[in-house]
Amino acid sequence: MSSTTLAAPAAQPVQPLHLHRRATPVPAPQGPWTVNAIQALLDKPLMDLLFEAQTVHRQHWPAGDIELATLLSVKTGGCPENCGYCPQAAEFDTGVKADKLMEVDEVVRAAQAAKDAGATRFCMGAAWRAPKDRDIEKVSALIGAVKGLGLQTCATLGMLESHQAQALKDAGLDYYNHNLDTAPEYYTDVVSTRAYQDRLDTLQHVRSAGISVCCGGIVGMGEAPVHRAGLIAQLANLQPYPESVPINSLVRVPGTPLADSEPIDPLDFVRMIAVARITMPKARVRLSAGRQQMGEAVQALCFLAGANSIFYGDKLLVTGNPDVEADVQLLAKLGLNGHRTTTTTSEGGAVESAAGACG
Ligand code: SF4
Repeated sequence: MSSTTLAAPAAQPVQPLHLHRRATPVPAPQGPWTVNAIQALLDKPLMDLLFEAQTVHRQHWPAGDIELATLLSVKTGGCPENCGYCPQAAEFDTGVKADKLMEVDEVVRAAQAAKDAGATRFCMGAAWRAPKDRDIEKVSALIGAVKGLGLQTCATLGMLESHQAQALKDAGLDYYNHNLDTAPEYYTDVVSTRAYQDRLDTLQHVRSAGISVCCGGIVGMGEAPVHRAGLIAQLANLQPYPESVPINSLVRVPGTPLADSEPIDPLDFVRMIAVARITMPKARVRLSAGRQQMGEAVQALCFLAGANSIFYGDKLLVTGNPDVEADVQLLAKLGLNGHRTTTTTSEGGAVESAAGACG
């Protein structure tokens, strides 16, 4: 399929923030997935879409296998960026207290507890716009300590230069999370302190350093359906597409500009999961932020649509997550197996990411 220009947004209530209206050049999808083709998938009858997604899923992944990932905020709040969904942005009054980077022994204790609870990978999130080289040195020590526990490591630290990505690789980092958030056409309605191309540049640095990529987005931010299709097109057309794709449903945190966004229809969220599975068959598709608001039935539909990873634990950076016991019960009820071994293969092996917050 050839690339195409985006169609005009379909009629749907949209609540643009108008944070920043500069004319940002929009990277057109270059790969085989056009926005129109993805929109056509999103528009399919739901049962047909679920059937197709589950068929693709079973061609590439063992049925019932769910990866469990745990996320720790190692440096919380006080971020100079203005991501409209994020309670850690310094300019929003959300009650999040800014902390400095955690010490190694604190992080090791949390990682050990996550491992004991069944997690196979451990993601460390820091609320930085872009880390300084001295921050990279400190995070490298954290990475080494967590790897020493036999866990795979993931970090989400903001924008990276190429030498910083290489330093993290040298420290043993397995995965880096950096979300594209939304389609390029809607990006400036969500954040104005950086450009879409900045995100793509960091992803390229991470790839070039040989670190696996965890990259997804957030829905329910007032975007139109065409923007959801545009996000999936950007992700699916990355060369190669990410090993892990977290799909987040906005957690509407009071004090953030997006706090009053119209919630996404739960079935439209399920459709996003299904289309991510179909367009990126070997990626771990992670059901990420917003699970607490979904209920068990919607989560079950997400697994049917091809989600095979969840964040596990009681916190996603600074927002709530279903507690461990509830997750264990849900997985048992659905006959799903928490994935307790560490595998990393070019076939889409595994990943971690930070959902919803930094990246
Ligand atoms: S998402 Fe990350 S970069 Fe954006 S404001 Fe939050 S912590 Fe900062």
